[in-house]
Amino acid sequence: MSNNVMNEEIYVTKPVLPPFEEYEEYLRDIWNTHQLTNLGKYTLEFIGQLKEYLDVEQCLTLCNGHMALEMILQAMNLSGEVITTPFTFASTTHAIVRNGLTPVFCDIKESDCTIDADKIESLITDKTSAIVPVHVYGMPCDIKKIEEIAKKHNLKVIYDAAHAFGEKVNGESIAKAGDASMFSFHATKAFNTIEGGCAVTNDYDVIKRVYQLHNFGIMDEENVEYVGANAKMNEFQAAMGLCNLKHFEENRLKRKKLYDYYRERLSKIKGIQLLKYDEDAVELNYTYCPIIVNEDDYGINRDDLHKLLGEQGIHVRKYFYPITNEFACYKDFDFNGDVPIAHRVSRQILTLPLYTDLEMYQVQRICDLIEKREMKNESRN
Ligand SMILES: *Cc1c(COP(=O)(O)O)cnc(C)c1O
Repeated sequence: MSNNVMNEEIYVTKPVLPPFEEYEEYLRDIWNTHQLTNLGKYTLEFIGQLKEYLDVEQCLTLCNGHMALEMILQAMNLSGEVITTPFTFASTTHAIVRNGLTPVFCDIKESDCTIDADKIESLITDKTSAIVPVHVYGMPCDIKKIEEIAKKHNLKVIYDAAHAFGEKVNGESIAKAGDASMFSFHATKAFNTIEGGCAVTNDYDVIKRVYQLHNFGIMDEENVEYVGANAKMNEFQAAMGLCNLKHFEENRLKRKKLYDYYRERLSKIKGIQLLKYDEDAVELNYTYCPIIVNEDDYGINRDDLHKLLGEQGIHVRKYFYPITNEFACYKDFDFNGDVPIAHRVSRQILTLPLYTDLEMYQVQRICDLIEKREMKNESRN
């Protein structure tokens, strides 16, 4: 390997861009029409394609995934407590709190880091109105069990599916799970519209309310019915979405090759634990490769491996650390829920680089570095 390769900086992700000429065509048209936002033709076309791709009856694009989640929660008129996971990005918990709802934290399963459905029922009170699980790293939650609990206790289920765009479980689009889902189209996600996101549901009343809320609650020229906000997607975002959607499957398969290689190599290293999922039933989008570092077996801890890789120009992320209930902004909140596994795993988790343009030789180099550390340690014993 050349010196160049050894010195190159690799980040945990890199946004996917379509061929410039493809986007340019849309730009020329936007310059002609001067239609920049407010459900222009590209936004409408994009919504149509998303409905078909995600196999949902209702879909609305928004300025980002966070606002999609906030507005779904607001549209459902929830009250009281919402059972959720702290092992997620800040957005999930913030969306609940910013709606005046109280998050009740449920622990996760170590095997895949999603909410532990077996622990949900004991957290339900007469104040509980909904469950907000997260398909974290694209790992599908226990959709069936969560649905059974929700039905039994008459609760809404809203999935934070920010990581799960385009995924399938038993051949069925993951977007169909629960009462509604939110997807994020942020630059760093599997599929991007620069910034952006969407709300999906099969409930017309919910999407209608999200639609009203995302444009200030304005019904018509003289009538403002709801305290909404501005969360509209614009035409530049929609155009990026139309371009990127065309290449999504081809990009997904590129990442799958890298992902499979990572798993093959890393599964052989003592003390490096991969997340478990049903490989026959689940079609991932291959955007994250998290590992759990078990110091006793691996020899060094997560923070040491993070530093060691960083010194080699490999910028991995302690993702998700800290968990959201440990954020400074929540220190005065007296949130309920006992989450020892989420707490521990957040101290052992490391997310490795994985993106469409990542090269196989780079993944090999990362695996070599992770492996070498182990061998060094074994020879020491
Ligand atoms: C990215 C992300 C969001 C928020 O999406 P944005 O499009 O960035 O607003 C919400 N939840 C999770 C789990 C995310 O990773």
